[in-house]
Amino acid sequence: MNKTDYNKLFKEYRRGGTLLLHVCCAPCSAGVMPRLNGFNVVPYCYNPNIDTLTEYNLRASQYAKLGMTPIIEKYDHGEFLNAVKGLESEPEGGERCKVCIQMRLEKAAEKAAEIHADLFCSTLSVSPLKNAEFINAAGARLGEKYGVPFLPNDFKKDNGFLLSTQNSKSAGLYRQTYCGCEFGRTPTH
Ligand code: SF4
Repeated sequence: MNKTDYNKLFKEYRRGGTLLLHVCCAPCSAGVMPRLNGFNVVPYCYNPNIDTLTEYNLRASQYAKLGMTPIIEKYDHGEFLNAVKGLESEPEGGERCKVCIQMRLEKAAEKAAEIHADLFCSTLSVSPLKNAEFINAAGARLGEKYGVPFLPNDFKKDNGFLLSTQNSKSAGLYRQTYCGCEFGRTPTH
């Protein structure tokens, strides 16, 4: 992450700038939202990677416990399955995850442009299994493509992951034991 860019963007927009925040789940959001005080945060839930509609709805229902009302995209797991075809047996953190993360960031960038947000970013980097460098590079590329700057971040830093687990517990959130897709169904998150 380029610290200068981060500080500049953070300073410039945190007094009410609109930040479209791609949310992967409520537990990760619980660790990220307290770090975004001062922004007008618009949470955006686009996660076709989640393996079943039941799980998708269960995760989506948790945001209300944090006082969040995200824009929730219609669930279409087929979009994800098509995108990762041939990469099913990749390990978590490998090529399949790169495609998965990029597709979610791209949709977030598109939505950020549509609602005329000042910035966009994602909660994804709060997970110890998500590479912030990759997320920031993909976000920066997509930000250029859609004309909305990506706020570079590594939300797991400074005990960000711990904050997400503590806040999830206090809010009584359902905390899943796997990332999302059927191919990464090992206890990870
Ligand atoms: S393990 Fe997680 S990040 Fe990787 S492809 Fe599956 S849902 Fe996406």
